[in-house]
Amino acid sequence: MSDERISSLTSSAYQQALEVIASVEPRIAEATRQELVDQRGSLKLIASENYASPAVLLTMGTWLSDKYAEGTVGHRFYAGCQNVDTVEALAAEHARELFGAPYAYAQPHSGIDANLVAFWSILAHRVETPALERLGAKNVNELTEEDWESLRHDLGNQRLLGMSLDAGGHLTHGFRPNISGKMFHQQQYGTDPETGLLDYDAVAAKAREFKPLVIVAGYSAYPRRVNFAKMREIADEVGATLMVDMAHFAGLVAGKVFTGDEDPIPHAHVTTTTTHKSLRGPRGGLVLAQEEFAADVDRGCPMVLGGPLSHVMAAKAVALAEARRPEFRTYAQNIADNAKSLAEGFLSRGARLVTGGTDNHLVLLDVSGFGLTGRQAESALLDSGVVTNRNSIPQDPNGAWYTSGIRLGTPALTTRGFGHDEFDRVAELIVDVLTNTEPGTTKDGKPSKASYRLGDGVADKIHAAAGELLDKHPLYPGLDLA
Ligand SMILES: *Cc1c(COP(=O)(O)O)cnc(C)c1O
Repeated sequence: MSDERISSLTSSAYQQALEVIASVEPRIAEATRQELVDQRGSLKLIASENYASPAVLLTMGTWLSDKYAEGTVGHRFYAGCQNVDTVEALAAEHARELFGAPYAYAQPHSGIDANLVAFWSILAHRVETPALERLGAKNVNELTEEDWESLRHDLGNQRLLGMSLDAGGHLTHGFRPNISGKMFHQQQYGTDPETGLLDYDAVAAKAREFKPLVIVAGYSAYPRRVNFAKMREIADEVGATLMVDMAHFAGLVAGKVFTGDEDPIPHAHVTTTTTHKSLRGPRGGLVLAQEEFAADVDRGCPMVLGGPLSHVMAAKAVALAEARRPEFRTYAQNIADNAKSLAEGFLSRGARLVTGGTDNHLVLLDVSGFGLTGRQAESALLDSGVVTNRNSIPQDPNGAWYTSGIRLGTPALTTRGFGHDEFDRVAELIVDVLTNTEPGTTKDGKPSKASYRLGDGVADKIHAAAGELLDKHPLYPGLDLA
């Protein structure tokens, strides 16, 4: 179908949908409409966000949402799940084909859910199953109270080694306040203080000493590729299960930008991801696994999850089908090329980047050279129509709240069609804003980490310049809600 035809059908679908919604709660219809206006009118550089296609968005708004379907394909605790079976089987099939994974599980509602399913399936496979075998029980319901208490003790006393938050890891990789840092004894690996790069020898040394059951690789704010073959070697040496969380960079794996040692699927025992970041699907999660772990992951419900979001699984199937098209490879390569252009744009203007550059979809800009905290930079940029998020940098002197960094990603604007010149211009605009922002002072005259003063006219000037770029690359072109 032609792009124009799709736009025109999408326009009428959403005009009518908003009218129906407005008949019940007009403020929700209005907020939904305004969100499109806002997203169209700002430079979205949040590395974890994207714009899903109209087909993906439309798939989410249906009566598939009304069906309960706890269980797995062909084995449900509810009657009448034939269509949900079709949907879930297709989502899993597209995921297996796209990623070359032996097994895929499409039910997790989010990235965190996918990680919880992965953790508990690893615990089930490595701790619970051997215990049941030893005790001659088929499942935990058959255990005596005493054996059950002993198994619970064992399940609650396993070790996890993950990347620390300030090096770019995620909350679920063993951060203490998160459930992952509480259900496991955890230790964290970081990056080399000089280079900001992962130091595999240091990870191996930690693993030998700590002997974790699970090693988690993957990140939310590390601007470089990871050698997953090396991570697997480390895991094998210490008898750990390698779990890779590719939530951020799944699109680069799907689009074959990360191949060989950089493709996590053949190396990890279990791989998790979100579907809404670089993969450009609906908000949700996926678990991919080697055969050895398939049966345990398949018990995500009732282990961790309740009823799946069938409308979202349908949208995952549509998004994964899109990602299997040849155009998606071009898109993924453009994401990485554009990140390089953005990084060069900063470096050529004298700004400092963590690790000195990027070879994935994101750059981490150290804003301390501008005399600002991440919080001040984030706010000044937002005032100018540039949406980013503050992020700690390794050994951040300003901590995790104020931070010293800004994380910028290229997936969303690449979807709008931005290329090299536009990303160079984006770097120029950002440097312009930060150069013209001064830190504020607190009531007692000390330097503030939050308040700031943006030079006169800067916000308007940058808004106008950003608007020119955005007008050239419209979001959902032809979609008219007026
Ligand atoms: C975003 C992210 C998640 C969590 O995804 P949600 O859908 O927000 O729960 C998990 N792991 C990593 C590495 C992420 O970047």
